[in-house]
Amino acid sequence: TRTFFVGGNWKMNGSQAFCESMVQTFSGQATDNVEVVVGAPSVYIPYLAQNLRKDWAVAAQNCHQLDSGAYTGELSAEMLLDVGAKWVILGHSERRAIFKESDELIAQKTKKALSKGLKVVFCCGELLEEREAGQTQQVVNRQLNAIVQTISPEDWQNVVIAYEPVWAIGTGKVATPEQAQEVHAEIRNYLTTNVSEAVSANTRIIYGGSVNPENCAEIGKKTDVDGFLVGGASLKPSFVTICNATA
Ligand code: 13P
Repeated sequence: TRTFFVGGNWKMNGSQAFCESMVQTFSGQATDNVEVVVGAPSVYIPYLAQNLRKDWAVAAQNCHQLDSGAYTGELSAEMLLDVGAKWVILGHSERRAIFKESDELIAQKTKKALSKGLKVVFCCGELLEEREAGQTQQVVNRQLNAIVQTISPEDWQNVVIAYEPVWAIGTGKVATPEQAQEVHAEIRNYLTTNVSEAVSANTRIIYGGSVNPENCAEIGKKTDVDGFLVGGASLKPSFVTICNATA
């Protein structure tokens, strides 16, 4: 059985004061049978790791693929762990599109993070043009393939796959529950064929793209939807409602 997983992705938003108010807001609010992870800007990870409720974890939004060295401005997986991150979000469409991260680079980052003990929310998803051209599964399989070829079967216990159709991110245009379920089921098939039956059965596949407190329950009911990766709606107190979507 797969524990429901809800990640917040704050992206480049927030401040020290915002972190303090979110820590207060979330403290003591019941969340049952769900693993919650807050993806914050790296500079706020130490504060959140210290002060956020202890049953929630903190994620970074990126890390470098190497251990250390002359890479001005970069952060290593070990540094993120050192200040309290337990997770890192990798392969987000904004990293792919704006920062030109390739499938191979994302696979290297994933491998490095896992080797250090940092768990990974691995993001994949198609562009609108790709969906309209009937290439959704091909694109998602290509993105997954880079990871499958690079990590070992045991690593999958520390990976959550986030399916985030790019046309649904920050647009208010959420995928229908049926659209999400269809791709999630295909991803699970892909894992059966290319990794193993056990990895396919045990890996959480979460949906991201315009998830909000109103639409989460219906999507969360689908068989192969094991949670959400939430952008804009994770910056509000009602993020807790999304964490409790299946409660
Ligand atoms: P929105 O929830 O703002 O659409 O963002 C989704 C996302 O990119 C989460 O990683």
